[in-house]
Amino acid sequence: MKNTLLKLRTVLTIFMMVVSVLVCGQDKKLPNVVILATGGTIAGAGASSTGSAYTSGQVKIEAMIDAVPNIRSLANLRGEQLANVGSQDMSVKVWLDLAKRINELLATKDVDGIVITHGTDTQEETAYFLNLVVKSDKPVVLTGSMRPSTALSADGPLNMYNAVAIAASPKAKGYGVMVLMNDDIHSAHDVKKMITTPVHTFESPLEGLLGTCIFGEVEFFHKPFGKHTVDSEFSVDGVKELPRVDIVYTCADVSGDLIDIMVKAGAKGIVVAGVGDGNMNAGTLEAVKRATKAGVPVVRASRVPVGAVLIKGEINDEEYGTVSSADLNPQKARILLMLSLLKKDRSREDLQNLYIEY
Ligand code: ASP
Repeated sequence: MKNTLLKLRTVLTIFMMVVSVLVCGQDKKLPNVVILATGGTIAGAGASSTGSAYTSGQVKIEAMIDAVPNIRSLANLRGEQLANVGSQDMSVKVWLDLAKRINELLATKDVDGIVITHGTDTQEETAYFLNLVVKSDKPVVLTGSMRPSTALSADGPLNMYNAVAIAASPKAKGYGVMVLMNDDIHSAHDVKKMITTPVHTFESPLEGLLGTCIFGEVEFFHKPFGKHTVDSEFSVDGVKELPRVDIVYTCADVSGDLIDIMVKAGAKGIVVAGVGDGNMNAGTLEAVKRATKAGVPVVRASRVPVGAVLIKGEINDEEYGTVSSADLNPQKARILLMLSLLKKDRSREDLQNLYIEY
């Protein structure tokens, strides 16, 4: 009787295992990765495989997963379509939705890592935003492509394969939010789109690559710079919108009027894409002084693609009430200012420290 019961129990256990694999498609030995899709060229389609014209955000996430050979051997995969836009149309709303969904998913035991498919135009901004507000040390990896899914030698499928390999890798814990493009793993803090169209467009020119992922083999070289994810003080819990922060691009003989217009239009903060070491002409400096006196913080970044803006350079920040963006480019400096301004009454010194730390 006892033996029959034992046999019955074994048969039942095997039956339940087979049913769970068939129903959920889950292999217990594999990590669980969720792919959040937002659009971009990786989901883009064109009429010709050799023409340059295409439209971003045409293909849905399940079809994108099915187009990558062997990707399901890396992880149990599930896709969610959060948006389907070219990333020139990325919005604060999608950023907040992404952060909320990632924090929900990573708080459960059933999710080991996240991949986000994203257009490359603003990929570095989304990556940096998430690096500051995701509350988990599990891997979060953004990827995209420079060629649409219909192109000859489309780069999306291998990028997606490698991104899933990183998200599924126990080695990738604690590196903050990463960007995988063209076999290279970049930190969200440093990655920059450097060239308009080639597949090798992403670089980490100041800090260097975090690592590489070649046909799914993950290797890390060093830890990322600055505070991020679990060590970040920023949170978007319950946040429905972010304060408006504008960017003004400077050049020779530019007028300071644009800064006055931004303040009048309701900007709560301004980032100046200055010349050289975050410099600007006399007219712009006077307008900046008016803005900071009116309580609108101004951060000095640079229109030069690579390099830090010195805290003590040609401009005396104390005199003008300005803050140096340290090594953040204007678009990332804007994100840090938007998040910083969620807390009221930050002093200039407090803001400056945030740029040094993050
Ligand atoms: N405009 C596209 C986007 O950012 C470019 C790309 O994905 O490469 O969505």
